[in-house]
Amino acid sequence: MQKEIAFIETVMKSFSPAMLETETVTRWLVGQVHPGGPVCPVCGESVTGEAGLRNFYALKRVQCKKCNNHSNAAAGTVLHGLKFDIRFVFLMALLIGAGMSYQKIGEILKLQPRTVQIWSEKFAQIGQKG
Ligand SMILES: [Zn+2]
Repeated sequence: MQKEIAFIETVMKSFSPAMLETETVTRWLVGQVHPGGPVCPVCGESVTGEAGLRNFYALKRVQCKKCNNHSNAAAGTVLHGLKFDIRFVFLMALLIGAGMSYQKIGEILKLQPRTVQIWSEKFAQIGQKG
């Protein structure tokens, strides 16, 4: 059931100590929620250029070269409006994949068990769009 969620399997396979670093895990998660590659969420134009790509994968503001809208890579994804440390997204998936209960994960990460459960449902959506 939960172990059949593709994103959780990917997290289990991708874990390394570097994933505990905010910069590394942010870049990795942005790649996961944008399986079609880096594009403007407004018009779909590809994000290009060294600075644009660096900002895109760091969840910083990127200005689209085509439509001029400012946005960041969280727009329209499960990462939009994140209210806690982004590393927790990875850790929740890792611990769910390891079979830990929502209650126990909530205790470790100081989150409500219900929040962990909601994220387990979000994980099922990652990679299904685009
Ligand atoms: Zn655009």
